[in-house]
Amino acid sequence: MPDELAKAADQPSGLTSPIQYFSGVGPDRAAVLARLGIRRAADLVFHFPRSYEQPPQVVGVDDFEEKVPASFAGTVVELDERVTRSGKHMLGALVQADSGGSVRLVWFNQPFRRNELGTGRRLLATGTPRSTGLHWEMIQPQVRYLSPEECDLERKPRPVYPLTEGLRQSDMRRIMRRNLPELIPLVIEVLPDELRQRLEVSDIHRALHDLHFPENLAAAESAQRRFKVQELLVLQLAISLQRQQRSKEAVAPVCEATGKVHARILNRIGLTLTQDQLKAIADIASDMGRTIPMNRLLQGDVGSGKTVVAQYAMLLCVAHGNQAAFMVPTEVLAEQHSATLSRSLASSRVRIATLTGSLSRSQRQDVLQRLAEGEVDLIIGTQALLSADVRFARLGLVIVDEQHKFGVLQRAKLRVDGEQPHYLVLSATPIPRTIAMTEFGDLDVSIIREKPPGRSVVHSYSVDHDDLAAWWKFVDEKLAEGRQAMVITPRIQVDALPLNASSAATQALSSDSEWSGTREQLEASEDGLEPQSQMDESQMDETQVDETQVANAEGIYRFLSSGPLAAWQIGLLHGRLPSSEKVRILNAFAAGELDVLVATTVVEVGIDVPNASVMTILDADRLGLSQLHQLRGRVSRGVHPGYVLAAASVGATASDNARLAAFQKSNDGFELAELDLRIRGAGDLLGTSQSGMPPLKVADLSQDGELLSLARIVARELLEQDPELSRPELNRLRQQTLHRYGQKMQLSDIG
Ligand code: ADP
Ligand code: MG
Repeated sequence: MPDELAKAADQPSGLTSPIQYFSGVGPDRAAVLARLGIRRAADLVFHFPRSYEQPPQVVGVDDFEEKVPASFAGTVVELDERVTRSGKHMLGALVQADSGGSVRLVWFNQPFRRNELGTGRRLLATGTPRSTGLHWEMIQPQVRYLSPEECDLERKPRPVYPLTEGLRQSDMRRIMRRNLPELIPLVIEVLPDELRQRLEVSDIHRALHDLHFPENLAAAESAQRRFKVQELLVLQLAISLQRQQRSKEAVAPVCEATGKVHARILNRIGLTLTQDQLKAIADIASDMGRTIPMNRLLQGDVGSGKTVVAQYAMLLCVAHGNQAAFMVPTEVLAEQHSATLSRSLASSRVRIATLTGSLSRSQRQDVLQRLAEGEVDLIIGTQALLSADVRFARLGLVIVDEQHKFGVLQRAKLRVDGEQPHYLVLSATPIPRTIAMTEFGDLDVSIIREKPPGRSVVHSYSVDHDDLAAWWKFVDEKLAEGRQAMVITPRIQVDALPLNASSAATQALSSDSEWSGTREQLEASEDGLEPQSQMDESQMDETQVDETQVANAEGIYRFLSSGPLAAWQIGLLHGRLPSSEKVRILNAFAAGELDVLVATTVVEVGIDVPNASVMTILDADRLGLSQLHQLRGRVSRGVHPGYVLAAASVGATASDNARLAAFQKSNDGFELAELDLRIRGAGDLLGTSQSGMPPLKVADLSQDGELLSLARIVARELLEQDPELSRPELNRLRQQTLHRYGQKMQLSDIG
């Protein structure tokens, strides 16, 4: 049935009509379009081009240069055809260029062109001009045929749409061309005039037109900008509404930092704090002094002194008779923090307890009871703190430490009735600005950039795997000077080559059944001792990966103990070891009983051994930039200068790797985080499964930082004037915000 009849039979009336009845579609194509999520007319209108094709620059023949590709428009004036001496078919066309002058086009073995060409035919030819002396010639040029009046039109960019099997770009363009002119006017504007002026964006009809049928790239970009801004504005409105609602509903215990309390806490901490630490403390004190629960993210590199700031918050909370919970990702860290805090609070009345998965049943019962009865002031624990049976007498503060992956800053839900605790997250992975404003947009942010005084410098290098031999000699020298060394082996892909020349052992181990599917493996993943590498998790199966990593660490351990570092005491740490064994090995390393620690990326989450000044990161190209930087932080803790070598995996070239190059060059975690975002893109960085937010469709957090800032400012302005967005002209914007984020962010309709 011709399109026109189809239309007459069932007149598509509006944006909600099924796509099937529109010009150039029909039932079969409708099924194909459905795979792209295009079911109704509106879906077609909002199926945006992915990019644009810019036709080559059309130039006048006068501007031709020998062997420089060019395009020109013209009309065929003469054709000739023959068979060459070598037996090839040759077709020539003399074309009168619009710009004046003529060009001869020549094709070999394309006899079909004879049917397309004819004198008077208009075309746009693209090819490499060569001068014959008489005139310019193009051999095997590409041509597009033009209608008689067409010439300028061809400079317009052509939209490139996302496609699916069974649908060509030209089909999609045709469907758009035939239907959108009628559909676009039906779309209702979301942004009122005033707001559009503030944002400097065009109205929705203009923008939709320019997006699908741009006159030039600038028009397309400006149309894209409108939809990006709109998307980001809706997001920022949702975030602001959520904060607004939260601060209205929940009530937290007021913990005021009076002069006396403040001085007492600082005195107990006993360090001269950096300006950034003091600023963070001021932020926290101001938050905790109110009934609105604090909701703050504290960012700073490893070793920048976040724990000290967290300690301030805990003591402030306890000083007011409330309990504080400090949640860390691993048992090892829980033990370490308990030990440090117990030491520094030994002479105080603060009662400390630890809750981890490895407590015996009776120990656990005891801790739970004391917590519930208010006989513990400060509890340090792993995720075990989140269990259903953990009750608090009067929880005032929750701190979540050392979350390394974006998107998993857990909104730790500890069980409390009545008053809500203040909440502080510590992140050692600097979070790029745009991500902080979106993914973690409901958190206030404090940043520690400045390192505590007396930090030693770290020298960073990156090399190919083959250049490791000289490095091991250097490590040996440093060990001889009394230093300690760490060797880190990240997860490697199962099908990757074994790491070392000596890796017969590695291979043997990886097929050893002893290492498959054990109970320890389960436990290791439960207590979170193996933070997943940011890159690898999506790519492969969990158990296999772990297996290879363990095997790999084992292989390196053997290689080093029987080879370049045979003279030294070497320890091996990986995720399959029982917790007690991990603690024992870490303690032995900290005590200097071990000279070298071979470890999986487990050490990332915190060991503090000032004498360890040399680190080797193997297969470093498989790690994210932030993770590499995190690891480096482990050797800048003491008075000795640190040395970190990031070695690319076998077959990879360090100098080709943008991440390794950046790692070697910069030691600023924030700068590296921004770079990582640009290199990997926001999707990769956040991962789809972790991220709590629906993904952005048009805007890109790795590029649209300025638009995001604008959207944030404007969202706040809007809510300041009209906290419920109840003005009629904002109705559609409010609807859109609730529709997109209402459920995800538990926004109740306000209007
Ligand atoms: P983070 O938690 O950010 O990794 P920590 O708080 O654990 O860092 O601090 C790292 C080390 O630096 C600790 O040994 C700590 O005692 C020390 N430190 C922290 N702040 C200061 C400071 N202002 N002056 C001197 N040493 C400090
Ligand atoms: Mg810390």
